[in-house]
Formats: sequence, structure tokens, C-alpha cells
Amino acid sequence: MIRHDVAIVGGGCVGLSVAKHLAARTDLDVAVLEKEHHLADHQSGRNSGVLHPGFNYPPDSAKARYATEGTRRMKEYCAAHDVPCEELGVLVVAKTDREAAHLETLAERAEANGVAYELLDSRDEIREHEPHAVGRAALHAPEAASVDSQQYVYALAREVQGAGASLYTGHAVSRVERTDGGYRLATSNGDVEASYLVNAAGLHADTLAHQVGVGESYQIVPFRGEYYELAPERADLCRTMIYPTPDPDLPFLGVHYTRRTDGKVIVGPNAVLAFGREAYDNTDVNPVELGETLAYEGFRKLLASKTMLSVAWEELNKSYRKRKFTEASQRLVPEVRGADLTESYAGIRAQLVSDGGELVKDPLLIEREDAVHVLNAVSPGLTSSLPFGDHVAETLAAKV
Ligand SMILES: Cc1cc2nc3c(=O)[nH]c(=O)nc-3n(C[C@H](O)[C@H](O)[C@H](O)COP(=O)(O)OP(=O)(O)OC[C@H]3O[C@@H](n4cnc5c(N)ncnc54)[C@H](O)[C@@H]3O)c2cc1C
Repeated sequence: MIRHDVAIVGGGCVGLSVAKHLAARTDLDVAVLEKEHHLADHQSGRNSGVLHPGFNYPPDSAKARYATEGTRRMKEYCAAHDVPCEELGVLVVAKTDREAAHLETLAERAEANGVAYELLDSRDEIREHEPHAVGRAALHAPEAASVDSQQYVYALAREVQGAGASLYTGHAVSRVERTDGGYRLATSNGDVEASYLVNAAGLHADTLAHQVGVGESYQIVPFRGEYYELAPERADLCRTMIYPTPDPDLPFLGVHYTRRTDGKVIVGPNAVLAFGREAYDNTDVNPVELGETLAYEGFRKLLASKTMLSVAWEELNKSYRKRKFTEASQRLVPEVRGADLTESYAGIRAQLVSDGGELVKDPLLIEREDAVHVLNAVSPGLTSSLPFGDHVAETLAAKV
């Protein structure tokens, strides 16, 4: 039986950031338990890799605070640890009057959150930044950056191990139980005991939390995001990052263009219900997990909304019909053709849904006297990971 002061379940950017900050704040003996044999296999390594500087979030919100501070801290971190990170800037394009009006709101938020921006109100100004993007207005935010999220996770892991924490890969936690002195975790590689628990298990965080009676009025619903990439000879269609104006009524941003640090331009993601928490291919089905989602009253209430149903239908079409995905891509860059797009990777968002049918849009921690459960490390969770992990570590350290 292995014993540590703190067991952190999940070696993604959140769990590792918590471990990093616990090592800096305390002399606790910390272990990170990761079910995979490699790191960054799930959300932290299957995302757009964009540092969102915080123009999109209401002032004083947790997301705004974490995104602005997270962007700054992560750029410093990447520079110090040789993680590829390029400050390319993002162009948020408005196509309609309604979207142009919403750009004003984004500009106000940028102003209030201290994020640099410029409003562009002609096609020529848009062209100066992105010659192939078409819109009636745009907001340019120069501080947005592209980062190699997998290398970031590995850099965190090296730092955490260097600071004396234990990292156990290949340790899938199947059962969490309370004991007199804390917790016993049954793993695929033997039991682990700890006085304190941090649950940062991403797509499975709700399952573990429910085992100890925490967060029972929520369930994670997995939404897959699929990417295409531009053929190398067409990658100049996007110099930096081209985004649509977000629709405040919808949970996920539409298809967008991101230049990665390796020079590839990825297009996507869409947002389609995944038929399993790790169902990365649109033919993958995990019948048990799909059944749990379909039986969940929160999910059924969510789908009862006409808007959500029509969004779900559109997104499903983009997943199974390339022509639909291409059309969505052409909205921002009309020159893109189906032949320019080849299938790339997919990621799955751990979207928390409440029993009432609400998509939980803010980060959610649930505390117990000897535990912190991270139930919703929602996007921009990569951008936010340093200040967010710092906050979780501070919260746990206060319990010791
Ligand atoms: C398609 C997509 C695009 C995104 N784009 C961006 C972006 O551009 N910018 C941004 O800031 N954010 C983005 N995000 C969000 C960001 O990726 C996540 O918020 C963040 O990675 C969450 O990190 P995590 O550590 O909580 O989760 P994860 O990376 O999923 O880590 C959880 C870890 O726990 C492990 N685990 C799970 N269950 C167990 C168990 N029982 N036992 C042991 N280990 C377990 C998993 O294997 C995993 O490694 C995106 C997300 C997706 C899916």
C-alpha cells in the first residue's frame, strides 16, 4: 500500500498545476495518479492550443481573471521552460449587424479586463491582418497566442517531479472511499492512501466525486470537437488565428482557424455529442456511457430547448458530412475548398450539466474538509491552468 499526504487524481494541465503549486506552497508529500501511460492523452493534449487573453468574458468573472492572468503567466512559463508559444494575435470577425454590435461588447470587456485590442471597421483593415478573411468588422486582439499544449503538460510534469512529487502513470483510479484518516483509492496498479484528495480527473471527475457523495446534482456530458487541417500548400489562407464572433446564446464557439506552433493550420472544432467519454472517432460508441448520458435528466432537459436541438442537429451534420463542415469554414474564409481540408484530430470537452438542464459555464470546485473536487475545468481551461491550479492548491493548503 502506497501512502502520501495528498493524492491528485488526473495528470492533465489542471492536476499537474495543482501539484506544482502545492509543492511551492507546502512541504506536503504529493502524488499525482494518472490512468494513461502517457500524459496529455485527453483534453490537455487535444485542444486548439490557444491562449485566450480574456476579451470574451464579463469583467470581474472568474473566467476573465483566470484568462488574463493565465495568458500572461503561461507566456512566461513557456519562455522559461522552452515550450513552443507564439504570440500571433487573433482576429474575431463579424459577418452580420448583430455580430458587429457584439464586437462592441467584446471591446468593452477587453477594455475593462485590461486586454489590448483594436476594432477594425472595414474590409481593407481586415485584409491587412488576414488577406483571405472576409467580414464587415473585426476585433484584433494581439495578445492571443498559440502554444504546444502537450509539451506544456510534459514541462509541468518534469517540474513537479523535480520538486519531489510522485507521478504514477498507468494508475487508473476505479474506486474512491473515505477512511478514518482520509481516502483509499483503488487503482489498476494497487491501492493508494492519502490524507487529502484533489479530484482533477477531467472527463471522469463527476464519476469519482459521486463515489464519495459529492456533486450529485451534476453530470459530465462529453462533447467531441473535431478538427480538419489545411493542406500545407493552402496554409497561407490563415496567417494567425481567425475566429467568428461568439454567439452569447450558444455554449461553444463556431468553427475557427488556428495556426499552431508547428505551422499547421487547424480548422474547427465543431461540438457534437460524443457517444462515450473517450469516443474520439465519430464511429466510436461506448454503450454504457452513452446510456448514462441519454438517461440523465439534465441532458434530456437540455435537449428540450429548441435552440439546443437545432444546434445539435447542425453540429451532427458537420461531423458526418464534410460538405457541411466546409460550408461552416467558408463563412470566415470563402476561398477554402473541400479539397483543402483533411481530417485531423479530435478532442472531447468535459461539459458539466446540472440536473436542471443547464450547461455550467464557469469553473466549478466543490470543497470538503479534506478534499477539492474540480468538477468543471471548462474552456479556456488550458489558458487558465496556472492561476486556477494555484487557487486549488491554496484552497487545499488552507485545510491542512
Ligand atoms: C476540443 C477542445 C478545444 C479546446 N481548446 C482550448 C483552447 O484553445 N484554449 C484553452 O485555454 N482551453 C481549451 N480547451 C479546454 C482545455 O483543454 C481544458 O479546459 C483543460 O485541458 C482541462 O484540463 P484537465 O487537466 O482538467 O483535464 P484533462 O486534460 O482531461 O486531464 C484529466 C486527466 O485525468 C486522467 N484521469 C481521468 N480519470 C482518471 C482516473 N479514474 N484515474 C486516474 N486518472 C484519470 C485523464 O487520463 C487525464 O489525463 C479545449 C478543450 C477541448 C476538448
